[in-house]
Amino acid sequence: MSEAPATSGGEAPPPVIVLIEDEPQIRRFLRATLGSQGYRLHEATNGEDGLIEAASRQPDVVIIDLGLPDIDGLEVIRRLREWSRVPIIVLSGRGQERDKVAALDAGADDYVSKPFGVGELRARLRVALRHAPAGDSGEPTFTVGGLRVDQVKRQVLIDGKEVHLTRIEYRLLTTLARHAGRVISQRQLLKDVWGPGQTEQAHYLRVYMGTLRRKLERDPARPRYLLTEPGVGYRLAAE
Ligand code: CA
Repeated sequence: MSEAPATSGGEAPPPVIVLIEDEPQIRRFLRATLGSQGYRLHEATNGEDGLIEAASRQPDVVIIDLGLPDIDGLEVIRRLREWSRVPIIVLSGRGQERDKVAALDAGADDYVSKPFGVGELRARLRVALRHAPAGDSGEPTFTVGGLRVDQVKRQVLIDGKEVHLTRIEYRLLTTLARHAGRVISQRQLLKDVWGPGQTEQAHYLRVYMGTLRRKLERDPARPRYLLTEPGVGYRLAAE
């Protein structure tokens, strides 16, 4: 018990791990070793299920393989990072430096190459838990009035009907949703949606807010959800 992951004293709940891994031997191995170390493990065998587990289990850490049968692990990491700051440890047979860089750039916090020693993995887990943002594993769905944004399914609904958004429109809406009820400056929105080199392109915002309003608002000229704060930026209404 000397290596129990829980921090000092008290009856801390066991750390919750979501493991996204298609190889049964590795899942069995981690179930046995981490389970006996006091972690609570939830398993998914592909990327889509992994995203659903990560959204519903409120994990303290996500461990993910990159080679998954449905969507690539890198894409899973990117999608998870759209709404969650949970620590992500990659467990992968792709051991090249460029693979590690790609995973870290996608939003992973750490990288363990297969084959790995369980002592090393446990040490990385302890580090990830120390750095975990307390109680903040992100909120994947957002609802206001008839508008619902589901970042796990990547679905936007208006009055129960799905609305198709382009990649940029979706990113703009989810960025606003993460700060719902608060004003985001034009500069910040341009940086988050289009990138740090585009902060002077205010006309991008006007164009895309226009198309978003036409898709989401009953009366685009008098928006209910996508509000302009003149001279400052934009705000998504909150309930
Ligand atoms: Ca695999």
